Amino acid sequence: MNSFRLLLSPLASHARLCRRFSQTQMTDILPKEARVVICGSGIVGNSVAYHLVQKGWTDVVVIDQEDGIGKGTSIYGSGVLALLKPVEEQQIINKSIALYKKLQADGHEIGLQECGSMYLAQNRERMVLFRRRAALNQPQGIDCKIIGPREIADIHPLVNTSDLQGGIYVAADVVAHPVLLCHVLAELAHSGGVRFVGNCQFLNLSTRQGRVSAVETSLGTIKCEYFVNCAGMWSWELGQKCNPKVRIPVHPAEHYYLLTESLNKPLPGVLPTIRDYDSGIYIRKLENNSFLMGGFEKVAKPVFTKGIPKNWKDCLSSDWDHFAPLLDRCLHRAPVLRECELKFLRNAPDNFTPDGKWILGEAPEIDNYFVAAGMNGNSLQGAGGIGHSLAHWITEGAADICLLDFDVRRFIDVHNNRRFLYERVKEVVGRQYAILFPFQTDYKSARKIRCSPLYSTLRNKGAVFGNIMSFERSLYFDLEHEVGKDSEMPPGTYWKPHFFENLKEEYKNCREGVGVIDMSSFSKFQITSPKEEVVAFLQKLCANDIDIPVGHVSPSGMHNEQGGYENDCMLIREQPNCYFMVAPTKQQTRIAEWMDRHLPQNGYVQINDVTSMYTVLLIIGPKSREVLSQLVDDDVDLKMLPFTYQMVSLGHSPKTIKVFDYFPYRNCWILLR
Ligand SMILES: Cc1cc2nc3c(=O)[nH]c(=O)nc-3n(C[C@H](O)[C@H](O)[C@H](O)COP(=O)(O)OP(=O)(O)OC[C@H]3O[C@@H](n4cnc5c(N)ncnc54)[C@H](O)[C@@H]3O)c2cc1C
Repeated sequence: MNSFRLLLSPLASHARLCRRFSQTQMTDILPKEARVVICGSGIVGNSVAYHLVQKGWTDVVVIDQEDGIGKGTSIYGSGVLALLKPVEEQQIINKSIALYKKLQADGHEIGLQECGSMYLAQNRERMVLFRRRAALNQPQGIDCKIIGPREIADIHPLVNTSDLQGGIYVAADVVAHPVLLCHVLAELAHSGGVRFVGNCQFLNLSTRQGRVSAVETSLGTIKCEYFVNCAGMWSWELGQKCNPKVRIPVHPAEHYYLLTESLNKPLPGVLPTIRDYDSGIYIRKLENNSFLMGGFEKVAKPVFTKGIPKNWKDCLSSDWDHFAPLLDRCLHRAPVLRECELKFLRNAPDNFTPDGKWILGEAPEIDNYFVAAGMNGNSLQGAGGIGHSLAHWITEGAADICLLDFDVRRFIDVHNNRRFLYERVKEVVGRQYAILFPFQTDYKSARKIRCSPLYSTLRNKGAVFGNIMSFERSLYFDLEHEVGKDSEMPPGTYWKPHFFENLKEEYKNCREGVGVIDMSSFSKFQITSPKEEVVAFLQKLCANDIDIPVGHVSPSGMHNEQGGYENDCMLIREQPNCYFMVAPTKQQTRIAEWMDRHLPQNGYVQINDVTSMYTVLLIIGPKSREVLSQLVDDDVDLKMLPFTYQMVSLGHSPKTIKVFDYFPYRNCWILLR
């Protein structure tokens, strides 16, 4: 059976493949104990299992509620892999492609074809994006060729180039067969010693002293040291089934591709995948002159918000009206498609995350609980590299590459809220292909959830807000705003942005006069102990000497065992046994978890997240002292020593505001309350 026929009829062929596989490998008995339990025998779980074996860890069990390998959403992939991504993603996809090539070279049939991709640009902004991506990816060894419409037509004669500015050709992009790959990875893991247990539903996870200790399943309990949640769109639900619960913000949405019948006329043999991101589409020519086309629509349809039903495969119908705009654009881009008969429209669920990025790493809530979920339509692309990095992390205690962008610790509770996810996922899907102009493309959905006390004041002054950790943070003021209305960021650009003049004005005021910046989104922690145990704890984590007198403030980096940078913070000594820490907004979960991990065993040191209890204002500029002096009590001397704070009252407030000169001699004051 060749891979192409499998693709034409994925479900039927998949059933045959599973039968073959399950006779040999899916009937393992659930052991009483294993070092690692992986939940999910989709492409991601199998890749993690395969890589653990490569690392010499073979006491691994993969469980799945289905009776065979890869019967979740992994059967639905359309098989395309694209390298022209932000470098963090590209590094992982590059590893996937290298692995898949090796597997094919070793004789495993996975339908890999090195056909390349043709990325098309309909406007100059897209061309700029391509140039930027090329500039970042070329030094990594990815050959990216910027080309004009004529060269596009030479390389891919089926492309309508009439409305194109140009494009980029990436020869190293590939296609592969997701089902075959899923099975090959499982087979190799199995032959390396991994046991695969089907019809085995994950029910609960037990912990001992904050660490994974056992997994309760429908077939009994299995003790383990590590658990890896690779349950795809079910991973959110799995995260709820333990104490404490683990935050895994994924939500399924409908995802489509369309397959045509073969076209009975001579066509060029292997052709690159067409990627027309401005139209939200991709088109693949298959070996028998049929075509597969899919895309990422602007407004997607989230599904299964109230839980994933058992018969989920029968729940989604082909919504032609929903797919029609993408289909029209496919027909425009490759007019030959008009001659094809349509075979079927596949509508299958895939899982998406609040920021469209994978969720990887060790959960902050439970030690040794790892997550590889939230594939955002990019699992085949990610699986090889993700499996590699996760196996490295599990076996060696740290990932082999920087996974910050995908870190499971980048979320807070609000991201895991079902309503939040439902609203956000509608927008996330379309952003897969959008141009994300730096600082100009914040999400529009699920907003105004976390706001500073000054939010309304700033809004009334025309503030345009950005969104970081779901916090509304003012970016600049729109001087032409309409009172009572939200000011919106205009469409993004790589050129001089619309708000440049406004920012110029604000910058000038701060340089020459005075400005107030609301930084209340910063993460804030109170770190205490009964006596002074907290000092030794922080001394161990911080690069700077933080044994400062009470009333003093110290900036510091926090470093890990490898010398890497974990945190950039400011520590205020409030009492001999109490510090107040201010850290970057995005660090709220990450740094809390990291400090928690290093707490002394005796339980004396306590860390309290007080982010939402405090407001932070920066008063900056040469006139800042003058303005502050008019506001604070008469007896306060603002000529205090650098890196010290005073308690003041502002206006009619009680004397509960800390004021300090954080960047001495630079006219920058911080107010904290
Ligand atoms: C139309 C479409 C096109 C796509 N095209 C591409 C593409 O071109 N390229 C690409 O890279 N990706 C593509 N994808 C994405 C990809 O197919 C999926 O995201 C991916 O296969 C998910 O893999 P997974 O291993 O994370 O999840 P799954 O394959 O869904 O595996 C999760 C497994 O966990 C099991 N499980 C869940 N809960 C439990 C429980 N309680 N107990 C035991 N087992 C449990 C499930 O049974 C399932 O087998 C596409 C997806 C769709 C829908």
